Amino acid sequence: MIILEAMELYRFFHSGDEEVKALRGVDLSVRQGEMVALVGPSGSGKSTLLMCLAGLEEPDGGNVLLFSQQITRRPELEKTRLRSKYLGVMLQMENLFAHLTVSENVRTAQAVNGAVDNAMAALLLERIGLDQRRNALPAQLSGGEKARAGLAVALSRDPKILLLDEPTGEVDAETEGHILAVLDAHRRAGGTIVVATHNVAVGRIATRTLAMKDGRIAHG
Ligand code: ADP
Ligand code: MG
Repeated sequence: MIILEAMELYRFFHSGDEEVKALRGVDLSVRQGEMVALVGPSGSGKSTLLMCLAGLEEPDGGNVLLFSQQITRRPELEKTRLRSKYLGVMLQMENLFAHLTVSENVRTAQAVNGAVDNAMAALLLERIGLDQRRNALPAQLSGGEKARAGLAVALSRDPKILLLDEPTGEVDAETEGHILAVLDAHRRAGGTIVVATHNVAVGRIATRTLAMKDGRIAHG
């Protein structure tokens, strides 16, 4: 079953007289249970595509469907509802509240759309190797711990679709191992993942790799 679909996505940015064509007609269909790795040079449009898939960036043309429901060109409240119903996102923006501990961040994310599940929050932090740091504030975390905390927040409601932008960007080998294990387990349990990455190890556990170039998905 196709649960995430992008059709003819375009996104242009303007700075002065310059026009950057970040997305130039992207089509993408993701089936339940897939882990799709988006690879490609810096500036090829990976982050913009993920932002559009999450409904956080409005494309200039085209549609995004989540479980056959359009998230493009919908009122902000509707987008938020669809996002919280179906998606877990960890993009290149902070997804941690600075004044809440790691554990509080995870439980707050759960509370946004449903019930807080203390047992699940604790299990998640244990799996991700952060149980020792559950009472720390984001500012007290190392880069690798912050990345894991962000992933725990994205996974906190066991999302149908996980959208990740460079989740192993600046982490050490041990953290990378934790992140890879959690992603692989999530996918094996039926979860669907779209991840932008430069990391070959992430590519290795993906079920499909798509190469982006100049705002398009390169085929063949
Ligand atoms: P990637 O994630 O593959 O490195 P991006 O999607 O971040 O690529 O960027 C694609 C292109 O769009 C780049 O040329 C980038 O400079 C440009 N771009 C992305 N976001 C913005 C923005 N908010 N304003 C202006 N240009 C942007
Ligand atoms: Mg990027």
